[in-house]
Amino acid sequence: MHERTDVVIIGAGIIGWSIAYYLRRAGVDVCLLEQAEVGAGASAAAAGLLAPLGPLNGPGPLASLLLAGCSLLPPLIAELEAGGAVQIEFEQPGALRLACDRRAVGRLERRWRSWQALGLQLHWLTGEEVRKWEPLLSAEVLGVVYAPQEGQLRAGELLQAISRATLQAGARCYQYCEARGLRRRANRVLAVQTADGKEIACEVLVIAAGAWSAQCCAWLGVPIPVKPLRGQLLSLRLPRGLPTLQHLIFGRGIYLIPRRDGSLTVGATREDVGFDVRVTAEGVAWLLAQAQSLVPALADATVERSWAGLRPSTPDGLPLLGPLPGWHNVILASGHGSIGVMLSALTGQLISELICAGQRSPLLLACSPERFGTPSIH
Ligand SMILES: Cc1cc2nc3c(=O)[nH]c(=O)nc-3n(C[C@H](O)[C@H](O)[C@H](O)COP(=O)(O)OP(=O)(O)OC[C@H]3O[C@@H](n4cnc5c(N)ncnc54)[C@H](O)[C@@H]3O)c2cc1C
Repeated sequence: MHERTDVVIIGAGIIGWSIAYYLRRAGVDVCLLEQAEVGAGASAAAAGLLAPLGPLNGPGPLASLLLAGCSLLPPLIAELEAGGAVQIEFEQPGALRLACDRRAVGRLERRWRSWQALGLQLHWLTGEEVRKWEPLLSAEVLGVVYAPQEGQLRAGELLQAISRATLQAGARCYQYCEARGLRRRANRVLAVQTADGKEIACEVLVIAAGAWSAQCCAWLGVPIPVKPLRGQLLSLRLPRGLPTLQHLIFGRGIYLIPRRDGSLTVGATREDVGFDVRVTAEGVAWLLAQAQSLVPALADATVERSWAGLRPSTPDGLPLLGPLPGWHNVILASGHGSIGVMLSALTGQLISELICAGQRSPLLLACSPERFGTPSIH
């Protein structure tokens, strides 16, 4: 089967769908190819934290991206819900970042000072003060930064809502349809070839294949430093009768996210183990040990579910967004690491503007794929 479209997007994760959503709004014909099913990659596995402080140590390009990205999500969620697609659990209960010993207090104080310039509301609390709000927290907690604007959403629901709205707007998506190769002439891609024999001709190709993006770029002779970084997560439920947590909790390398249904998401490991997406005994044991050290009552919690996903990580923690070096009509949108949900709407909007109007937002400068070198293509 042979067809034509304006833009082919390889990868139907949150990044591929967000780009498709904004392209359809601009009237562009779009076709997504997904090697498995929608949500098979990192996007449905994500914890859904909208908590920009985590990876930040003050202002800079990453802070600009995260703050812009997080501000776009609430209006997008409202728009998707108004369109009748799916209700998305989205809450801003505020986050507590904990320090449990003197050295950790010193580190947290330094980070707190570096965050002051970001213009977010932040408050310093003592352990006693925070235990009045969250009586389940360990007596070891000495100091806390409270960030009232941070929140969480259910990433799987966002993915479902945006994919539904984009399909309703006229996009096509082929699931279980792996892109296997490209037909090209000189430095242009003419068509994408799939494992089941389809060839889809396009004006522009977008590579949004998450942790697998380096494989697609290798077809074009462009090495990119995107690697999978496994994250394992758990869903716990506290025994009846105990108070539930009211805030997002960060400490000892993990986070705890109280959900609307009373469950608690615990995440996440950070493991360089290639494309291995298993949940392991060691990963689960580590998450449980860290969680119990912050909230001792979790020793008696029920483990309801465990899962894992592969973050598309880059060496400098910034995504790769923009034209693929050496190619006239190939755009790369990958390498979102642990922040792809927060950056999803922004990525969709910026890449759509780049394709439709050739406009390269200043926000894209720090994310240029060229920063890791420009290969010579033959
Ligand atoms: C454990 C964990 C927790 C996270 N928590 C958060 C969080 O709290 N907040 C946040 O902002 N971010 C979080 N993230 C990060 C976020 O999930 C990712 O950055 C984001 O989902 C990346 O989206 P993507 O669309 O690029 O990749 P993916 O969702 O992986 O999608 C890529 C898709 O491309 C498909 N594909 C690959 N190759 C091909 C091919 N050749 N042909 C066709 N299809 C192909 C794959 O099957 C996949 O479905 C977390 C990630 C993990 C793993």
